Amino acid sequence: MDGGLLSPGLSGLRRTVRLTSAFTWLAGVAFAVQLVFAGAGPAHLPLAALALVVLAAWLRPGRDPWAVAAVEGVVILGATLVMPTPQPVIAFLFAVTVRRALRVGAERFPVRALPALVGYLAGLTWWLVDQPAAVTGPQVAANLMPLAGLVVESLALHEAVRATRLVERANRTLEAVVRASPVGLVLLDEEGRPALRNERARELLDWTGDPGDRVPCPHGPDLSRCTAGCRTAGEAVEVEVPRPGGITGVLAVHAVPIERRTLVTAQDVSKRRRFEEVLRARAERDELTGLAGRAHFLHLVDQALLAGEAVGLLVIDLDGFKEVNDADGHEAGDWYLVSAAERINRAAGPVAEAARLGGDEFAVLAPGHDVRDSARLATRVLSELARPLAGLGHDTAIRASVGIAVSRPGIGTADLLRDADTAMYAAKREGGARIRLFRPEMGEQVLARQRDKADLRTAVDEGQLVLHYQPIVDLATSEAAGAEALVRWQRPGHGLLAPGAFIGLAEETGLIVPLGAKVLAGACEQAMRWREQGRGLGVTVNVSTRQLSAPVFLPSLDRVLKTTGLPPTQLTIEVTESVWADEAAMRGLMEVRETGVRVALDDFGTGYSSLSYLQRYPFDVVKIDKSFTGNLDDTGRTAGVVRCIIDLAEVLGAHTVAEGIETEAQADWLRRAGCAYAQGYLFGRPDTPENWDSHPIAVS
Ligand code: C2E
Ligand code: MG
Ligand code: MG
Repeated sequence: MDGGLLSPGLSGLRRTVRLTSAFTWLAGVAFAVQLVFAGAGPAHLPLAALALVVLAAWLRPGRDPWAVAAVEGVVILGATLVMPTPQPVIAFLFAVTVRRALRVGAERFPVRALPALVGYLAGLTWWLVDQPAAVTGPQVAANLMPLAGLVVESLALHEAVRATRLVERANRTLEAVVRASPVGLVLLDEEGRPALRNERARELLDWTGDPGDRVPCPHGPDLSRCTAGCRTAGEAVEVEVPRPGGITGVLAVHAVPIERRTLVTAQDVSKRRRFEEVLRARAERDELTGLAGRAHFLHLVDQALLAGEAVGLLVIDLDGFKEVNDADGHEAGDWYLVSAAERINRAAGPVAEAARLGGDEFAVLAPGHDVRDSARLATRVLSELARPLAGLGHDTAIRASVGIAVSRPGIGTADLLRDADTAMYAAKREGGARIRLFRPEMGEQVLARQRDKADLRTAVDEGQLVLHYQPIVDLATSEAAGAEALVRWQRPGHGLLAPGAFIGLAEETGLIVPLGAKVLAGACEQAMRWREQGRGLGVTVNVSTRQLSAPVFLPSLDRVLKTTGLPPTQLTIEVTESVWADEAAMRGLMEVRETGVRVALDDFGTGYSSLSYLQRYPFDVVKIDKSFTGNLDDTGRTAGVVRCIIDLAEVLGAHTVAEGIETEAQADWLRRAGCAYAQGYLFGRPDTPENWDSHPIAVS
């Protein structure tokens, strides 16, 4: 640490102080000697002795008692009377006063100098009174003028010394701060030499030479000549520097001009830089798959479009990912996503950038791709994904829906992405595992779909849903044993819509939950009305998997049964085989069954049928899909399958309902095959309960 920050000015002052101190001693000793040899009268020798006592007291550093000040006053008073000339006395008085002005901690100056001054004035007055004849104007002036000069001079000296001490203290504090600073600091003088620096600066700048010499910087041996930014005021330059152990550190060097000097700071910012790099990587990369993250990907698309580049954008959404996640767990889901990411990345190749937009949605940005190139790339992505994927306990292939949008002049990132997304949804709606290129009409379809969603929400809230009932007939008696509630939407301007037109949308948007709750409540109320009319008709309600897996389902079912008073056995819940793919829904269904509500398997034979599931989970009713009953007459094969289903249901303790019965021949065949119940246009189309009253079917 160089202490010379303020030294040129201070050392001059320090010399002045030293000289003045020497003078005071000289004056003091000369005064005592003159008292001994030049004094007159009997008191001069005791006065000389007292003067020596005073000088001895001066030797004790730091102490400045009043007693010494008083003795000084007495000696000066006596000396004015015994000395033939006033000069030695004035010189001693000067020595006393100046000595006090210079003393460390001379806060009490000039008070302690007063006794000497008073002694001199008293002696002078005495002399004037004692020898009035000798008093002349010039003589008085010769005695008083040095006194006035002495007072002023010693005051000035005192102030100068005090100021110096304050500056020195500030200097010391500043030096301590610089020394303790964790930042490397170097103050360069006008010649570029270090006027001030700390050890941290030496360490960081790898400055091994003479501390008074040139200061090196990361760009060269002389910081003051650096042209790479170390001496340029403003932004700090960050330079990579080698560190022991082969590590690369980062040094930030910053220059601040201070008058004609320059303060250079050096800071080790390696940690901050590493942290920033981690953050940037996290922001840019998707953590799970390592592909580009959404924000970074959109930024890349932005840049490509701004540069006027033609690009193809693929949005890829995995089909059936939710099922994998639900059936095999999140870990398997993650592994599935990582596998998909690897394959998409491989298909994208070195030029195109693959990204994960979120969830099971991926994207590829293909610079320079037109429609044809993009389609080829999309095909490559799908076939890469479709390669067998072993590891989930069962072999599977990754299926995906791909939407393509190709840039056109003036298009922005948001629009391009929306177009690719729209195309992807079109692919998904058409059953997935396909590629669709964006067409402008698709945008209109999306808008129409959004309108449908909003209208359906209104329909649920405002009671536009209507329940029709279709009789379920006991084949032995041809009488209605129950009725299936089938929902319709009385949509303003569109007429009465069948469920096929809106149930899918309701499931997609989650509206199926409130919609289903209304259907359930309406059907139970209707069943109670029939009971009150003396008709023992059970009611059957279709419930989708999404509804069943919602935790509110069971409590709301309980509430409906309680408020309507319908016995649980009079209610049948119909689910399709898709329920087996959803564990939560399956659990919900079994809980429903424990309450006494009956459970039917709808459209049996069309979906994900598995005998093991059928054996494991008990069902009360199996509904044979109309695709079987409609073909009964055609081939012996279908008849065999239907017979099989009836037998199987019987073994499992369930009874069968045949759906879609339109002819007497079908009804007869089923009756003979042992099927207990049937449902179809032959017995009655789904209709409102009001029309039921005039229904031709006999109801018990
Ligand atoms: P589903 O449960 O299999 O209902 C039977 C469907 O077959 C009904 O169609 C019905 O009108 C039709 N159908 C009945 N008899 C015959 C016949 O003899 N011949 C022919 N060709 N068809 C017949 P709908 O009403 O259009 O309902 C379609 C599907 O919508 C239902 O199939 C059911 O899965 C679903 N659905 C209906 N209402 C609801 C509901 O409230 N909630 C849920 N989640 N789904 C519902
Ligand atoms: Mg049904
Ligand atoms: Mg059905």
